Amino acid sequence: MRADNLEILDRITLSELEQALDTHTREKVEPDKWTAFSWSASRHKMFEDCKRRYYLNYYGARRVREAKNPVTSAVWWLKQVTPVRTWIGTVIHHVASLAVQAHRDEKEIDEKELIDTATRYHWEGWLASKRGAKHDGQWIILFEHLYPGDGLSIDRDAAEALVVDLTRTFLASDAYGFIKYLPPGAVREVDPPFQSFELTGVPAVGKLRVYAIPDVLLHDGQDIYIIDWKTGSAAHESIRWQAGVYRLYAHQTYLLPEQSIHVSIADLENTGESIEPTGGIPPLDETRTFISASVQAMLGRLDDVAYNTASIHSFPMTDDLAMCRQCSFKRACWRHE
Ligand code: SF4
Repeated sequence: MRADNLEILDRITLSELEQALDTHTREKVEPDKWTAFSWSASRHKMFEDCKRRYYLNYYGARRVREAKNPVTSAVWWLKQVTPVRTWIGTVIHHVASLAVQAHRDEKEIDEKELIDTATRYHWEGWLASKRGAKHDGQWIILFEHLYPGDGLSIDRDAAEALVVDLTRTFLASDAYGFIKYLPPGAVREVDPPFQSFELTGVPAVGKLRVYAIPDVLLHDGQDIYIIDWKTGSAAHESIRWQAGVYRLYAHQTYLLPEQSIHVSIADLENTGESIEPTGGIPPLDETRTFISASVQAMLGRLDDVAYNTASIHSFPMTDDLAMCRQCSFKRACWRHE
C-alpha cells in the first residue's frame, strides 16, 4: 500500500508536484478545527528549520481525503515517516506513561516487565513498518525502511539495547523518583492527546489555538510540576520555548502564578537527571511575545489568513543539504537521490 501511494512521485517532476499541491493548498475552504491556523512550539521549530518542510507538513498533507489527489496522498504518507531514533523516543514515552499511570492508579510496576514491554513495543513497530501496517492504531513507516539506500542509522540489536538502556535510565531518573514520592492524586495529566489552550489578543488572528501536551503534569495542591522526558539532546533552544509554552498552558488552565509552575527536563539520554532548559524557563510575558512574533512570521507567508491558504512558492527549500538527508519529505523535494 505504501509503495502504491508513493509511486506517483516516480512518474512526475518537481514542477508537476508543486503545481498539484499549490492548487490544493490555495483552495479557499472554510477552515474547521483541523484546518484552522494554530500554533505549537514544534510547529515553530519546523518553520525555522525549513519553510518547505513546514508547508508540506502543515498544508501539503492536509485535507487529504477531500483532495482525492495522489500527490497529496503521497505527501501525507511522507508525513507519517519516523526515523528509528524518534521511534525509540516514542517507545520510551509510551512505557513512561504506563509507569506514571500505574502510580496514579496505585498499581505496582514490575520493572523487568516494563523493560520487556518496551522491547516488545519497539520491535512490533519495526515489524509494522516493514509490512506497511499500523501499530497501536497508528501508521508507522520508519525512515530507514522508506530510504533503504541510506542504510540503517542504528541496527536492530543496537536499537534494542538503547531501548533497554533508556528504560532503565527512566526507572532510575530523578523525575520518576519525584513522581513516586508525591501522592498518586498529584498526577493530573499524562501525555493527553491533542491538548490545547486558547491565547487571546494575538495580532492578526485575535484568538489563537496553541497546542501544548506535557508528558506529565503534577499538582501537589500548591505548585505545579511539569516533566518532559527527553531521549535526545536536551540542549536545543526550542526546548526552552516548549517549557515556556507549558508554563503558559498551566497558568491559564490551573490559574496559578508563574512562580508556582515548574518545568523540568528529564535528561534520559544521559543520567536521568532533572535539568532546566538552557537559558531557564521563559517568563509568561516573554513566551507570549515569542508566540506572537512567530505567528506573525508564519501568517506573513500565507495567501489568505482568514482561509489559512498557502502557496508552495512562498515556502522555499532550505539550502542546508545536511538537513535534507535526514528529512522524510526529501522524496517530494527530489533530494533523495
Ligand atoms: S528535503 Fe530538504 S528542502 Fe525538502 S522539506 Fe526536507 S529539509 Fe526541506
